[in-house]
Amino acid sequence: LSPVPSDLEISRAQTPKAVDVLAKEIGLLADEIEIYGRSKAKVRLSLLERLKDQADGKYVLVAGITPTPLGEGKSTVTVGLVQALTAHLNINSFACLRQPSQGPTFGVKGGAAGGGYAQVIPMEEFNLHLTGDIHAITAANNLLAAAIDTRIFHENTQTDKALYNRLVPLVNGVREFSSIQLARLKKLGINKTDPSTLTEEEISKFARLNIEPSTITWQRVLDTNDRFLRKMTIGQAPTEKGYSRQLSLWKTGLRTILRCLPLSSWLDKCHPLDTPMNDSGGGRQAQFDIAVASEIMAVLALTDSLTDMKERLGRMVVASDKNGQPVTAEDLGVTGALTVLMKDAIKPNLMQTLEGTPVFVHAGPFANIAHGNSSVLADKIALKLVGEEGFVVTEAGFGADIGMEKFFNIKCRASGLVPNVVVLVATVRALKMHGGGPSVTAGVPLKKEYTEENIQLVADGCCNLQKQIQVAQLFGVPVVVALNVFKTDTRAEIDLVCELAKRAGAFDAVPCYHWSVGGKGSVDLARAVREAAGQGSRFRFLYDLQLPIVEKIRTIAQAVYGAKDIELSPEAQSKIDRYTQQGFGNLPICMAKTHLSLSHQPDKKGVPRDFILPISDVRASIGAGFIYPLVGTMSTMPGLPTRPCFYDIDLDTETEQVKGLF
Ligand code: ADP
Repeated sequence: LSPVPSDLEISRAQTPKAVDVLAKEIGLLADEIEIYGRSKAKVRLSLLERLKDQADGKYVLVAGITPTPLGEGKSTVTVGLVQALTAHLNINSFACLRQPSQGPTFGVKGGAAGGGYAQVIPMEEFNLHLTGDIHAITAANNLLAAAIDTRIFHENTQTDKALYNRLVPLVNGVREFSSIQLARLKKLGINKTDPSTLTEEEISKFARLNIEPSTITWQRVLDTNDRFLRKMTIGQAPTEKGYSRQLSLWKTGLRTILRCLPLSSWLDKCHPLDTPMNDSGGGRQAQFDIAVASEIMAVLALTDSLTDMKERLGRMVVASDKNGQPVTAEDLGVTGALTVLMKDAIKPNLMQTLEGTPVFVHAGPFANIAHGNSSVLADKIALKLVGEEGFVVTEAGFGADIGMEKFFNIKCRASGLVPNVVVLVATVRALKMHGGGPSVTAGVPLKKEYTEENIQLVADGCCNLQKQIQVAQLFGVPVVVALNVFKTDTRAEIDLVCELAKRAGAFDAVPCYHWSVGGKGSVDLARAVREAAGQGSRFRFLYDLQLPIVEKIRTIAQAVYGAKDIELSPEAQSKIDRYTQQGFGNLPICMAKTHLSLSHQPDKKGVPRDFILPISDVRASIGAGFIYPLVGTMSTMPGLPTRPCFYDIDLDTETEQVKGLF
């Protein structure tokens, strides 16, 4: 239709086929799916065993140039491309997308199901709770957070013997270790299985994790943009006040008296258990992150089986003990419970595009503060289902410098899968911004530079496209540029972008019109991708895992972002030293960097040069399997704008239809 109706109107105008019909069409057996409602189903992992001898299809990654805050259409291109491949070229294909966080859905960005005539439907189910995977992650993450603080509470208020007796209770007059406890004893080098034979020293070693509160890196999470939870103090109730030490009331009183004297620092040294204290002398400083930044989300996205997920969950490091040794979820005895909470989330969610082609929606880490890619499991299952001649199209978040770099260096390393083609999405709008056009802000109408032809701005902005093509080529994979055409783009602008992209080394560059007409508008793109996949990929990683952490960070900064060098804060350096000494130095790197520039400064557009990339902090996600440097100031909890999307979202209580999602 012209003008193109809203995403929600288009989505609602199409009745999706029943998901069991779709499942049958793509070769799933009845007992391989678990149906949620009419149009969603979880797919069981047993499928991988059944299809283990089936050759994989071709593996295509959709990435993008450095975007405007509005998004340049990577999800839309992903959906348009599979619609073109399947419905118009008759080639089996699957799209694998991330589940969106409800933070941005109610905040600035709106949904992420694609848009126009290239969408996943029903878009409200895609954008809201789906099948509850993010809720499961939130529950698991916060159970672990509660386990950490409660363990410190109990260790601070009980003797070794009392702790031991509670951790290994008498049942019918007998004390027995659980399997998790036996594993912990083994880790501690105590080769005993009978609880009554432990010495005093062994009891103390076993009962106390001795977590150093100032080293806790595990945060609570919520799938809501709530900026007021970025920093807070926990443990303020009278029952936990002072972070629950027996001495806390005494200490709080004494601290008040000694506040003006240098002796207060002496007091802290004598009783460091409850650091860091807040001003009122109670609690511990903590924070909430957005749920999709949880390490458990990254674990879900990178795991390849239930057994592997359980091991990864157990390996997650949450703090160090007083001797500087890592404390894990396994040490806290919570691995089994976390696995129970995540047992359904591990199964990919099957949905469909507007043209009835299959889609997996599974896992949704952000690309700026996490690794930004959907799940390895969804890709692996889809690659089997499409067959050797088929295509799986998956999407990496934000610009190629972050989402694609992490796709190659983290996701492909974890999965062992080899990508065949990169589709690099560009828009005339974003290129004009890189060429010096006025700033683009969500919710503010675009200036005339963006709605009228301006060849010079486009030509100047193509430097960003050229740079991102070169970044993709570092990995040895052929690049097809997909120019996502908006109705204000002119023929001359479109031709110029395609010409410059080819000159920069793209295998091909084609305009796409799926947003306004559906899959038939992307048939040229589908043909170009098919041809590029026939070229053979000479895929390689950017860095060797054995390099020191600093060298890996420097390689990404210089080769991908174009930085002159990196600069580590003392905090970052000491964390790198600690992780290296703890034996975590050979993990890949997951940079947390703004998506709005190749550099760390969001307002530096085009291709910034001669900058020094500041690394303010470094974290470790040992279960997920990466080291996580923070570039400049990166918030792990977004906020809401003055007029968030929730103003427009409503429910028609007569028809139960959602209104105002886009
Ligand atoms: P990304 O995945 O890169 O963040 P999306 O595919 O989610 O981007 O698209 C962002 C928004 O832009 C969506 O609301 C989508 O409907 C809209 N959009 C995408 N392509 C076009 C287009 N060619 N014309 C108009 N709007 C578009």
